[in-house]
Amino acid sequence: MVIFKNISPLKGYLAGAKRHGTVGFVPTMGALHQGHLALVRNARRENGLTVASIFVNPTQFNDPKDFQKYPITIENDIRLLEQEGCDVLFLPSVAEIYPAGLPANEHYELGMLDQVLEGKFRPGHFQGVCKVVNRLLDIVTPDTLYLGRKDYQQCMVITKLVDLKGISTRISICPTFREEDGLAMSSRNVRLSAVGRAKAPLIYRTLQQAKEELKAGDLRPLREKLLETLRNGGFQPEYFEFARSSDLALRDHWDGKEELVALVAAFLDGVRLIDNHPVT
Ligand code: AMP
Repeated sequence: MVIFKNISPLKGYLAGAKRHGTVGFVPTMGALHQGHLALVRNARRENGLTVASIFVNPTQFNDPKDFQKYPITIENDIRLLEQEGCDVLFLPSVAEIYPAGLPANEHYELGMLDQVLEGKFRPGHFQGVCKVVNRLLDIVTPDTLYLGRKDYQQCMVITKLVDLKGISTRISICPTFREEDGLAMSSRNVRLSAVGRAKAPLIYRTLQQAKEELKAGDLRPLREKLLETLRNGGFQPEYFEFARSSDLALRDHWDGKEELVALVAAFLDGVRLIDNHPVT
């Protein structure tokens, strides 16, 4: 695996390599786990060249403490990517991604996606995500971008970004990779205490329960019951919502036909966990 910290040698390398096949790109913030590696595997299967990036993007953290505590395990990450057969790792500094001369902050018109769920509870988060993804896509110009369904709303935001900017990159969304007990893999899971880790699978069980108990009509009693289940299980939930799968329009009622997804965000041990699952 070739590692680049700077943009210009990376671009030079990619210009040569692109003559030999398509480029698949897996952007990450590091502290890699099997969920990230599954994206790398998909990229490898479908492309001549697989590029991963590790960059803990300061502009997408609305909570400075979350940024400071974000786990960094770079040597292990490099080893895992090498084992997986990743061809290129882009490992830039903050100054490389956001040099002083970069044009002033652009506003991305994300509409409702910026107002609900993660957009509501993490103000500015998706603007930061768009800023870094726009920059990374400009540098790597991949044929396909590999994203995880674990961050369902982020997948929609990036799909919208690509559309807004007229970027020709295709987006491939990979299923959520889970621990055996159902907990969605996340870099933040390592910050859970042993007690917290034992409680954590409840978040996925509430999503499964939502699917089992979903009935046409008023969804609010089910939502309240599941919020209460999370509170009783030691979580401090921020939201548990049902939304239309195609655009994340929130739903209090279900007509029995529309495709819905349930989405949840909750603190456990001071760690913010998110998850989602189709319920129809
Ligand atoms: P992150 O490093 O958290 O920014 O994630 C980098 C990419 O990996 C994003 O596209 C995430 O959606 C994806 N990802 C993170 N966790 C998982 C998981 N458990 N299963 C599948 N994809 C994931």
